[in-house]
Amino acid sequence: MTSTPFDTWQLATTRGWWIVQRGREILLGPDGGLPFGACPLFELDPLPVLAVGELDGQPCYAVALPPEAPFGVFFGDPKRLYDSLAGRARNALSRALEVLEWDRSHRFCGSCGAPTEQRAAAIVRHCTNDACRREHFPRVSPVVIVAVERGEEILLGRSHHFPPGIYSVLAGFVDAGESAEDAAHREIFEETGLAIRDLRYFASQPWPFPHSLMLGYQATYDGGEIVCAPDEIEDAAFFHVDRLPQTFRFPSTLSYWLIRDFCQRHGRDWPEPA
Ligand SMILES: [Zn+2]
Repeated sequence: MTSTPFDTWQLATTRGWWIVQRGREILLGPDGGLPFGACPLFELDPLPVLAVGELDGQPCYAVALPPEAPFGVFFGDPKRLYDSLAGRARNALSRALEVLEWDRSHRFCGSCGAPTEQRAAAIVRHCTNDACRREHFPRVSPVVIVAVERGEEILLGRSHHFPPGIYSVLAGFVDAGESAEDAAHREIFEETGLAIRDLRYFASQPWPFPHSLMLGYQATYDGGEIVCAPDEIEDAAFFHVDRLPQTFRFPSTLSYWLIRDFCQRHGRDWPEPA
């Protein structure tokens, strides 16, 4: 039998931050931010609740609602909420979303197929097969995102699934057994045929859709002509700092920080669409 350290009834009077998922939606507070206060789910049957750390000295709780749960008007898009939060709150939301995804997708042991269970407040699911006893922890999937610069130009590309006209810096998953630096060189070469040099670490960012860790780099163009890999990207080009295309405008994202940093180092404000 699966057990968890808390349920919603036990926590009915406990104050904290509540990250409550229902399908693709997330519960919003009255101000549109993360809900804070007593458990907002006390009217429902007990639900397993995961303790996922703290934010500003208060506990954070994560819970996944059944799809038919009520409270319809207070749910919204988790990416929109993510984008509206500042650093620490954004990371707390990331952790909760990633732990919920892990909890949902590790109900059975990947080694032997037996059910798993949580036995304590720690974020680990244990295999219930005594011959196996494997422990399953949340995993993150590293992604490199690279701003390649050539003087006053920056390399931007667009995927087939981007909205029309939108470009961004290039990114790709780190392969098994690969360093982040090797992944940066490989991804840029695979997607555009270009060589890069002077790879410099910039910043990282949890990206909980569903469980990535974005590793941002800046690099300098080192040769080659752009030849797009058609199954990866639709277009890529170097754009002058004064003639940038439309880009995603989510201030919470590494791609935004990288393009803004490029502009600022060349004495420009955040780019306006061309
Ligand atoms: Zn097992």
